[in-house]
Amino acid sequence: MDSVPVKTENVTLCLACQSGAGCPSVGEIAGQDGRVYELLKCFLCGSGFVYPRPSSKELSAFYAEYFGLCKTNIVDLGDRESIIRSNQAVIEDGVEFLSIILNKTGRKKNYKYLDVGCGHGFSVVAGNSLGLISSGIDLDESSVALGVETLGLNLTCEDFQSALDAKSDLQLVTMWQVLEHIEDFEDGIKSVRSALDSDGVFAGTVPNYSGIYARMRGLKWYMICPPEHLNFFSEKGLRACFERNGFEVVFLGTTLKTAAPLIQWGLRSKIESLRVRGHLGDSMAGFIRRMITLGKRYLVYLPLNALIYLFNLGGNSTFFIVRKKSSKES
Ligand SMILES: [Zn+2]
Repeated sequence: MDSVPVKTENVTLCLACQSGAGCPSVGEIAGQDGRVYELLKCFLCGSGFVYPRPSSKELSAFYAEYFGLCKTNIVDLGDRESIIRSNQAVIEDGVEFLSIILNKTGRKKNYKYLDVGCGHGFSVVAGNSLGLISSGIDLDESSVALGVETLGLNLTCEDFQSALDAKSDLQLVTMWQVLEHIEDFEDGIKSVRSALDSDGVFAGTVPNYSGIYARMRGLKWYMICPPEHLNFFSEKGLRACFERNGFEVVFLGTTLKTAAPLIQWGLRSKIESLRVRGHLGDSMAGFIRRMITLGKRYLVYLPLNALIYLFNLGGNSTFFIVRKKSSKES
């Protein structure tokens, strides 16, 4: 790394808890864009931030060329049935997350739901299956095109801030692993609030910087990948962000679904491509796929999750469900 070292002595204000306790650098990271970033960590809440902060122009340029973490290992093999079948586990996870949200917040059907950063729209598929009036937005044109044209979903390709600013009657907004990407997440949270109806719900996940994987891996944690990821929230820091912006926390922490990191072997896509080429029968492919899902669920995730739970270690991601407070406290 031969870049000029970044200057961080003056950074005192934590972007998550906004305390002025100070955010000293915990090290340098080589970014995916070839720049060198520093990771600053708040003394008080333990949240981390990439510094310097890239501009929105720089981020757009980066995303225009970068095939990110979130896009890999998604199966696109032609027809709707094939895509739904080979991503069944992702959709099931979506149904489970949305069901938890609905159970904890008490509002159910005919519910206007928007998934921000929807990608191909699997959470929108999950929302539709639960009877929600579901839509999604994402900046990635090819993902949105697949969701609209092949999966028949209500997705649009637009900037989330302008999309949210045009709405005020949503009952549920989700952001699955999105807030860590946003340079000005404070503004993003404010936009979500204004797009929600009077007791609307905002839910999602972010990488958990106070969890066991982040602590074990330090700067080598796979989630630390600027400029794709810019914000690393501790549970305490994330809670402070929501409370400051007019939300009350319904749930914030580790669930069985968010304890272990996502482990992807790419086996489902291989099986599906074998099936499409006629090397595997439909029922055999279905059987193997199901065995992989169940095997991962019970032999990999369950033991990991149980350990994390038992020892209260903090998971790989934080799941949050917050509800809009009727009037913002000042
Ligand atoms: Zn802080």
